[in-house]
Amino acid sequence: MSIQKFMVIGAGQMGSGIAQVAAQAGLQVILNDIKPEFVEKGLAGIKKNLARDVEKGRKTQEEADGILSRLTASTDVTDAKDVDFVVEAIIEHMAIKTELFKKLDDICPAHTILASNTSSLPITEIAAVTKRPEKVIGMHFMNPVPVMKLIEVIRGLATSDDTYSAVEDLSKKMGKVPVEVNDFPGFVSNRILLPMINEAIYCVYEGVATPEAVDEVMKLGMNHPMGPLTLADFIGLDTCLYIMEVLHEGLGDSKYRPCPLLRKYVKAGWLGKKSGRGFYVYE
Ligand code: NAD
Repeated sequence: MSIQKFMVIGAGQMGSGIAQVAAQAGLQVILNDIKPEFVEKGLAGIKKNLARDVEKGRKTQEEADGILSRLTASTDVTDAKDVDFVVEAIIEHMAIKTELFKKLDDICPAHTILASNTSSLPITEIAAVTKRPEKVIGMHFMNPVPVMKLIEVIRGLATSDDTYSAVEDLSKKMGKVPVEVNDFPGFVSNRILLPMINEAIYCVYEGVATPEAVDEVMKLGMNHPMGPLTLADFIGLDTCLYIMEVLHEGLGDSKYRPCPLLRKYVKAGWLGKKSGRGFYVYE
């Protein structure tokens, strides 16, 4: 199936990045959020990225203008009535996502594929609220979307081969590398990344080393571009805790228990870069 009309629901940091790369791939893109100012903020971020690309000679002004002309703002979910593909990047909350998928299932034509950019929620459970579970799939982009090559493509229990191959083609068209994974808690990326971050937090909690020392060991010793605690601050400590809870509950293994220090920081409102304080202090 050929995907021409593309819709992104949620114009936050992930949704705006997804809309940008889809428009860069020549698709007509609707960017939707609940309030006009949220869509405007997403579009402003895209404009800033494109201006930087033009300044650095990575794109011509004409190309940047073409990309912007393919983006349409929306605050009305019924704009999904004639699109071929929808990907949601709204808040990571099961009840809110399933409510949206029910609505999209009613609004969209029968051929439309419904994708979720969830970092941790089960695709099978999201698909089950629709009458088209074979057309529901996980499309897990990495942050920042315009830069990162990977898309983890997650097959729910009922996802069809046709849906998978349409999303595989679409990912390549967007200049990304799709990697197929099955639907288990945390998929592959967060099942491996988050326990590593959690263990780094345990090192601080147990007095093995300071945050700076833990990050330095992983950067210089393992060639990681960023230490795990710096990365945790970027992701958001509340998000890290949420994903650890998903792994712990979903896999039922005590090795995934969140570190008490992570819980304490989240309770204190130390959420990382976005709140100004996490393992490090941000001015
Ligand atoms: P964000 O808070 O930056 O953006 C979410 C946006 O969704 C907000 O603008 C909000 O107004 C909007 N929204 C909420 N409910 C909505 C609704 N019903 N309809 C339309 N818009 C709605 O969040 P984000 O970091 O972009 O994350 C979005 C999703 O992507 C989450 O599921 C998250 O787990 C996933 N994800 C995040 C990252 C990351 O590093 N931040 C990476 C991969 C996946």
